[in-house]
Amino acid sequence: MVDQHKDLLQDERRVWHSMKPYNPDSTMVVTKAAGAWVTDHEGARYLDGMAGLWCVNIGYGREELAVAAYEQLREMPYYPLTQSHRPAIELAEKLTELIGDDYVFFFSNSGSEANETSFKIARQYHQQKGEANRYKIVARYRGYHGNTLGALSATGQAQRKYKYEPLAPGFIHVRPPDAYRDEPGSTGKDLPAVQALNETLTWELSETIAAVIMEPIITGGGIVMPQDGYMKAAKEVCEAHGALLIVDEVITGFGRTGKAFGFMHYGVKPDIITMAKGITSAYLPLSATAVRREVYEAFKGSEEYDYFRHINTFGGSPASCAVAMKNIDIIQKEQLIDRSARLGEKALNYLRRKLITHARVGDVRGKGLLLGIELVKDKSTKEPLDGKSVSSVVDYCKQKGILIGKNGATVAGFNNVLALSPPLVIEEDDLDLMLETIVEGISRL
Ligand code: PMP
Repeated sequence: MVDQHKDLLQDERRVWHSMKPYNPDSTMVVTKAAGAWVTDHEGARYLDGMAGLWCVNIGYGREELAVAAYEQLREMPYYPLTQSHRPAIELAEKLTELIGDDYVFFFSNSGSEANETSFKIARQYHQQKGEANRYKIVARYRGYHGNTLGALSATGQAQRKYKYEPLAPGFIHVRPPDAYRDEPGSTGKDLPAVQALNETLTWELSETIAAVIMEPIITGGGIVMPQDGYMKAAKEVCEAHGALLIVDEVITGFGRTGKAFGFMHYGVKPDIITMAKGITSAYLPLSATAVRREVYEAFKGSEEYDYFRHINTFGGSPASCAVAMKNIDIIQKEQLIDRSARLGEKALNYLRRKLITHARVGDVRGKGLLLGIELVKDKSTKEPLDGKSVSSVVDYCKQKGILIGKNGATVAGFNNVLALSPPLVIEEDDLDLMLETIVEGISRL
């Protein structure tokens, strides 16, 4: 018998958690997980509407991934990618099945590292091309790019940053698109967020800009949707100013939005694509920075200093690569990308039908199994609903055995979006149960 009380006491003494203050009433020590369900130390089962941290795309408890890791660890547990090994080569080949033939991959362990890597590649790329003044990275407010100092500097959520200043210099922020809050009517290059990007790149001086980074859909910042034409127009702005476009697919990759990668909805070809989470469905740590071949080729000079001076001890470790291969196999064989698109559309239609006339629901949005419900005080002013009321829906769902997210930015009270990002394998009945429970929770507001 596990001593649950002892577990919690030890947890409080020894384990420093992300974000949350210690609260024995709400801390779950998760002991088992299968499919879309997790079980805590008291034996209570919860339907995980967030797939952990938006990452367990193929669901929990897949024996095949455990076997893949075990077999690789036995055969060859480690060699650094300063040389090479077969799991990394095979995974790179496999990834091209999802994003096309034109990319080369640098492997790391986390989304933050994949983004750090992209910034260094972008800066050195311009140096290789004789444009050493191009160092600035332009990112968007509300975006999240990671916890390390460079990735945090790119993050556009001040509330996560101000206690850790001074951050890295050279990061500049612009307004993101927001299909719900922007004035309707404009498209393409006339969209306010595209104009803002163009102005910033102009006034900052094009010759100093290395890259622009964006999530296809701002996720942690509140499932903020762009207008359909935004990304294409933004890419054209980048090209006009000679800046690379980095697309952060850490959450939106591997079927989350109903396509292999989020950018695929928007008709662009990014220069650099960063990915993590769903690459292994979080069974082991792994991330990748995919770089367009032409950018990679610029590093192939004759001098020693032309090489990319960036080492990652654990990055692309053999077992992680083997697990990623098996994970992607499962995504393909079980057609989980199409499943995400189909279930996502069904869920979106259901939530819209049930909620859109509700006085506190401003917007219901998303793509694939990445869904957001923005709660407001007043539908006409769109003033965000207070955090306590938003949390009451999350708490209600938890009482009913359903875990959902609450996202946005605490700045100006914008922490008002309910988030859903379940495993792509979630059973349809379970998804229905989850949606019905959320609707009930909202109807109590
Ligand atoms: N980019 C995005 C869009 C993310 O959502 C996250 C993490 N939630 C990261 C980067 C950082 O990933 P990690 O926590 O693996 O470093």
